Amino acid sequence: MTLSTLATVALAVVELPYAYDALEPYISAETLHFHHDKHYAGYVAKLAELTEGTRYASMPLEEIVTSSDGAIFNNAAQAWNHVFLFEQFAPRAKHHPTGALRRAIDDEFGSVDELRRRMTTAATSLFGSGWVWLAADKDGRLYIISKQNAGTPLTDGLTPLLAIDVWEHAYYIDYRNARKDAVEEMWHVIDWEKIEERYRPFDV
Ligand code: MN
Repeated sequence: MTLSTLATVALAVVELPYAYDALEPYISAETLHFHHDKHYAGYVAKLAELTEGTRYASMPLEEIVTSSDGAIFNNAAQAWNHVFLFEQFAPRAKHHPTGALRRAIDDEFGSVDELRRRMTTAATSLFGSGWVWLAADKDGRLYIISKQNAGTPLTDGLTPLLAIDVWEHAYYIDYRNARKDAVEEMWHVIDWEKIEERYRPFDV
């Protein structure tokens, strides 16, 4: 699964790029079965139902996200966000970014630890359901962005690099109501090689 896949897939469920138990003990197989097979697949099914017979039916997913609103936007954005989320994890993750992304993080936040701390704080202070994003503007400058519900930086013309899903369904089975613990443990399986790949267009 690659970003180019992500840009073209609309109404098909994208399989996980690793086994369901590959992210244990940080994210359990049970959580991934629910998160991928029920929640994410549910958004895809609902999107198919909502777009049948409309101009959206043949549109790439990313284009649906940036050109719709209401229920179609909610389900399209949730579908896109989840493929993006699952793709950034790996069982043998690269734990520290290097190269151009590392330099951009140091410039903007001072250190990778400080970026993690600020994103974790943003995730714990976001009220209700939503997403916390690391995103880049057209010059490659980095931003931490909090969004309610299905919100994505794609609609701000920014390039998403890393996502934290703070909907309860992302962590409730493993961590119950302890969102902060869930986010802190999630960093163990964030594969910075993938985030660097997403930043590569800005490495000029
Ligand atoms: Mn989710």
